[in-house]
Amino acid sequence: MDNNMTFQDLGLSARALNAINKKGFEEPTSIQAMTIPVMLRDDTNIIAQAQTGTGKTAAFGLPLIEMIHTESKAVQALILVPTRELAIQVSEEINSLKGDKGLIIVPIYGGQSIDQQLRRLKKGVHIVVGTPGRVIDHLKRKTLKLDGIEHLILDEADEMLNMGFIEDMEEIMKHTNPEKRTLLFSATMPGRIKSLAKKYMDGYELLQVKKETLTSNLTEQIYFEVKASDKFEALCRIVDIEDDFYGLVFCRTKSDVDSVAAHLIDRGYDAEAIHGDISQVQRERTLDKFRKQRINLLIATDVAARGIDVSNLTHVINYSLPQDPESYVHRIGRTGRAGKEGTAITFITPSEYNRLMVIQRFAKTDIKKSQVPKVKDIIKAKKRKIYDDLNTLLENEIDTTYFNWAKNLLEEKSPTEMLAALLNYCFEEEVNPDTYGEIKEIGSKGRQLDQQGKARLFVALGKKDKMNPSKLIDLIMSRVSVNPKQIRDIMVMDNFSFINVPFEKAEEIVVSFKQKGGKPLITHARKK
Ligand code: AMP
Repeated sequence: MDNNMTFQDLGLSARALNAINKKGFEEPTSIQAMTIPVMLRDDTNIIAQAQTGTGKTAAFGLPLIEMIHTESKAVQALILVPTRELAIQVSEEINSLKGDKGLIIVPIYGGQSIDQQLRRLKKGVHIVVGTPGRVIDHLKRKTLKLDGIEHLILDEADEMLNMGFIEDMEEIMKHTNPEKRTLLFSATMPGRIKSLAKKYMDGYELLQVKKETLTSNLTEQIYFEVKASDKFEALCRIVDIEDDFYGLVFCRTKSDVDSVAAHLIDRGYDAEAIHGDISQVQRERTLDKFRKQRINLLIATDVAARGIDVSNLTHVINYSLPQDPESYVHRIGRTGRAGKEGTAITFITPSEYNRLMVIQRFAKTDIKKSQVPKVKDIIKAKKRKIYDDLNTLLENEIDTTYFNWAKNLLEEKSPTEMLAALLNYCFEEEVNPDTYGEIKEIGSKGRQLDQQGKARLFVALGKKDKMNPSKLIDLIMSRVSVNPKQIRDIMVMDNFSFINVPFEKAEEIVVSFKQKGGKPLITHARKK
């Protein structure tokens, strides 16, 4: 998001701007700023290099919505995606951006009843988001016609190739209108993508986001894996376990910022919010309070936080994962400044694990997994703080009125009894564990709920190295204890291979195959 563009600058209609505003997006992400004007300008083909999480769906979705003619009932755009999950996600994201434009978008994927899809296709659909296999099924049944489409979008094209969809993709392309425009989105740009483009795209514009990599060594970087519904509780615990928390909390949208700030204030924290809808005067007032540490929690969007010059923050919290590695670097660069140590904490939900790994790689940094503080440890920390504060008081002279009062109180009660009553009176709420909510541990069960519960790994050994699926399994089992049945979807190519393994095993495998001084033998497939 290293651009100064606004959504207004991109040539979108008032209806689109309104929908964007409702969605809570403040400014375009880099890939959006690059793609939207080009898509609206003319019908050039585009290849865009963008990871998941960079806002790529809206990058092609927003201009696509603008270009659909709702008076026709014909299919005008096909978005091909590698997985069922992505089909659903993409169609939901586009739906949420269409505002009051009456366009119909349908995801079609294997596993869902074909009859239901037939009924929806028959009624008339403008945009189809589908996985290759199921799209071919419909083409064969002649229940889907693509000879009139104006836009073909290949989303996560590298992933489709990795998953062996190349023949299906080529077959589908043969059925499409030769006059269409093609857009190809891919996280990586291997040679196979370029040859696909050469074969099927008659000239294209290449859009790539510039990379920026600089993180501060003084910042300890950790992440917590929490369910989205537990993030707020986790935030409260982090603040409470620190003696002097002074931090910036980043959320993705204006509405998230408002809601987190309001909840914090309700729970008695000194927090305030800043984002694009807050007036300049209010913003200045809030920033002044934050600088003077009259509030110790500032909740902000990336845009609103830009230009804030506050040193000595103890924490930067990524309540939601940043859009891209550049934003991560910018966000966490606000702590660990001026020779002081700081902590950057990132919350991820189980399905965001891959995105975090991509950020870690591009930001050339090490983000360690950690646990949300336990309630008993927070209470212990609070008691220690009370003890320290009492000692500080005792170091100074205490007014004689208090001594006389104490003597009076102790005439009838024992010191322990009286002190216990006094502590209860003063700190009942503060040390009460019931003020905290439960946070569910995310174990292997939680992870299975995400995407497919699997991670795709790239192995730098192939047929040329005399690899075959069973040798690959043996190799992995020689270093990591894993059930061979859990190593699935093995593809051995000439120079390299791919495997699917459960998420919880993926990192262990990658780490076990790191080689001193050499290229790692196994990496996450997306990170190539
Ligand atoms: P994607 O890369 O398309 O999977 O998008 C990742 C997430 O970013 C989705 O939840 C989007 O709703 C969100 N998003 C996309 N564009 C923006 C933006 N300009 N500002 C804030 N969030 C965005």
